[in-house]
Amino acid sequence: MKITDYFEAAKGETLISFEVLPPLKGGSMKAIFDTLDPLMEFKPPFVDVTYHREEYIYTVRESGYYEKTSIRKRPGTVGICAAIMHRYGIDAVPHLICGGFTKQDTENALIDLNFLDINNVLALRGDARKFDGKFIKEPNGHAYAVDLVEQITDMNNGKYMDSGIQDGAKMDFCIGVAGYPEKHFESPNFELDLRYLKEKIKAGGSYIVTQMFFDNKVYFDFVDACRAEGINVPIVPGLKPLTKKYQLQSIPRMFYINMPDQLVKNLMGAKTPKAVKEAGIEWCIAQSKELKEKGVPCLHYYTMGDSDTIRKIAEAVY
Ligand code: FAD
Repeated sequence: MKITDYFEAAKGETLISFEVLPPLKGGSMKAIFDTLDPLMEFKPPFVDVTYHREEYIYTVRESGYYEKTSIRKRPGTVGICAAIMHRYGIDAVPHLICGGFTKQDTENALIDLNFLDINNVLALRGDARKFDGKFIKEPNGHAYAVDLVEQITDMNNGKYMDSGIQDGAKMDFCIGVAGYPEKHFESPNFELDLRYLKEKIKAGGSYIVTQMFFDNKVYFDFVDACRAEGINVPIVPGLKPLTKKYQLQSIPRMFYINMPDQLVKNLMGAKTPKAVKEAGIEWCIAQSKELKEKGVPCLHYYTMGDSDTIRKIAEAVY
């Protein structure tokens, strides 16, 4: 079923969903099931699975020279989606990125997904590789998520890269895209970022999942700004509880997100790691309750493999 159909069928009730990361290479599906099994009682209609492109690592050779190797630390997104659908009978949403993919690769990936009956994708650009400094598209790949959305929409209309294919099978993907309530870090300003977000919707995006935020006002203002811009699709808040003190620095640095003063005070004032975690959970519960009261379509939790924490929040909210 399409993600947007779940929102419609819920008739204003707030759904719950989760995002999981593929385990590090060498790990097993057990890690995913151990995360999701305890969360299934909350009846998520879908689970997202992130995609992680290749990274460069540098190793010192005997000669003293550095060797640059490309590795994928967290492969398996599509397989995990199929396994989730099989085990739980719910939908899985693979994240699909531009980085590392030519348009042909993307086409082939979409064909695989379609054959597996996976009809939802979250279309993203992906970040720059660690040592690249800025995002570099593949030759004959996509530079922005909007281009990826266009390609998926083309395939929904039976249009393939190979112009020799006449009457190609039409796909039926429901396409989600990312939105940034505090703007994407590369964008010169919020307004321009919003205009590009609108382009993604015009190209075929059917719903938006937001970057995490810790102040609900930021989300509500973002929704208002989207509506004023003519973006009328469902906007799903992405939520992540803080569980460690160092995240007060690492999250703003990595994601360019502002932390409310009270949240910072609560975590700084917590005396033990346990108390820090409790303060983070408490904050996320309060955020979730308010968002649910306001009737958001779905609360989407970034689990980071920590089902205990997410369970505590879900128990308090649902
Ligand atoms: P875009 O929409 O392409 O935007 C990127 C930047 O370019 C923005 O600054 C935008 O304003 C600008 N821009 C957009 N269109 C144009 C244009 N036509 N011309 C000029 N500028 C333009 N990353 C992963 O690698 N794997 C994942 O699984 C993953 N999951 C995510 C899930 C969510 C919910 C979110 C919010 C992010 C996720 N990311 C993931 C991170 C994401 O890939 C990065 O934030 C990335 O830097 C931007 O992706 P995007 O799809 O928003 O890009």
